[in-house]
Amino acid sequence: MKIEILEKTDTNLRVIVRDADVPLMNALRRIALAEVPCMAIEEVVMIENSSILQDEIVAHRLGLTPLKTDLDAYNLPEECKCQSEFGCPECRVTLTLDAEAKEGTRTVYSGEIVSENPEIIPVSDKIPLIKLAKNQKLKLEAYARLGRGKTHAKWQPVSMCAYKYYPQITTPKKKCEDCQKCVEICPKKVLKIEDGKVDVRDLLACNLCMDCVDACPQKPSPLKVEWEKDTFILNIESTGALSPERVLSEATRILGKQLEDFEEQVKAIQQ
Ligand SMILES: [Zn+2]
Repeated sequence: MKIEILEKTDTNLRVIVRDADVPLMNALRRIALAEVPCMAIEEVVMIENSSILQDEIVAHRLGLTPLKTDLDAYNLPEECKCQSEFGCPECRVTLTLDAEAKEGTRTVYSGEIVSENPEIIPVSDKIPLIKLAKNQKLKLEAYARLGRGKTHAKWQPVSMCAYKYYPQITTPKKKCEDCQKCVEICPKKVLKIEDGKVDVRDLLACNLCMDCVDACPQKPSPLKVEWEKDTFILNIESTGALSPERVLSEATRILGKQLEDFEEQVKAIQQ
């Protein structure tokens, strides 16, 4: 198997994976969505809330605020040796929020949340949490813990994780001067016309919708859109909780662990 990086930013990773198959790609996708842990606020102790929003709505909004996660420094609650419902410093981070509208109506942003661990903070300080009118107050203590996306979407480290086949486009050899329907119809602008000949402008943008082939008045169409059966383009967009590379490496580690567990159980049956 071979991996080639197409695009890499703080929150987005796009790679070409060669010599793979659909079950593997789909397993990695599903694990990235549902099994790779990240931090999220799980419990909120409301000290004062004179805003117009109920405590539950404020707590829900806090839960959905993505937090930067340090996977190596914290344990999953079920794996922590404390086995306590409330957690210990190894499986819980305490965050506080103390906001008041003294001058007039104002918005409270995620940047006002204070964390006991400066590494575990909201990924952005510009997420609006609540609007307070003059003299309203919101004071609370919140506890963040590691969790998995399959329990609640707030523990999903990716906003998007998807793969597609690597496209293969064969353009007509002859000139197609009077008709440019395939070029015009493509929503991703994959094709272009050069010297009256249809050519590929941006191959990787193709999502194999086949609109160009359908639009061609010639049947069968000289334009062919196919895909490589064992090559994929994988795109991971992180919420900012973890780097997309870490999400991918964690997903492969978890898949390996699941297979090991499975193997052990199969061995147990054989004995
Ligand atoms: Zn613990």
